[in-house]
Amino acid sequence: DQPLVFDMSYESNMNMREVGNTVSQLMEVEGWNRRAKEPFHLHFCNLQKEGVLMQELLKRYGEKVWEHLLITTSERRHVDLFPREQLVYLTADSPNVLRKFDHSKVYIIGGLVDRSIQPGLSLANAKRLKLETARLPLDEFLHWGMGAKNLTLDQMVRIMLAMKDTGNWNEALKAVPVRKHDGFHHQRKQTAITTNTARGVSN
Ligand code: SAM
Repeated sequence: DQPLVFDMSYESNMNMREVGNTVSQLMEVEGWNRRAKEPFHLHFCNLQKEGVLMQELLKRYGEKVWEHLLITTSERRHVDLFPREQLVYLTADSPNVLRKFDHSKVYIIGGLVDRSIQPGLSLANAKRLKLETARLPLDEFLHWGMGAKNLTLDQMVRIMLAMKDTGNWNEALKAVPVRKHDGFHHQRKQTAITTNTARGVSN
């Protein structure tokens, strides 16, 4: 299976509440992935054995369940486990847009929640490691309102699972909550066409 990496190196950037939220989202990630037609092989990299994220994961899952999950965990860095040229760090702050889903790439998602967190944290991390970066094509497909373009970890995995399965952004971006945007570009166009046709008929 294609690997999907969660970078668990952001422990020190989160307070306990954020760590708790991260773990809740990761549990949803595991659930979505397990139920998917074409699951990823999940890797939690940079996961410190004695760290708070590990503690919280064990507490929430219980040790027995945790050991039977199909997640590969490592204290090592993604760059030490995968060839650098295969890695693409997903970050909302990237200047590059992810246009096509590449089945030969290993995508990395930052394991952190975004409350008090400084923007650009995962981008800085990726740059330091000289990794390719990409943001999701949210503006390209959706009428975005005021909301931040940082999605949650469960939304991210749903989008990536759908892309892996269908390669279709219109399909995959349905995982973005509608309260965050004002419809798909193609839907607006379709509405316009329907309205014109209706007028044409009545004339
Ligand atoms: N400020 C944080 C940062 O520096 O990335 C935001 C964290 S976001 C809640 C969690 C992770 O989801 C990010 O590290 C990134 O991997 C992924 N992510 C969220 N929104 C994204 C987007 N629009 N494009 C690409 N990746 C995104």
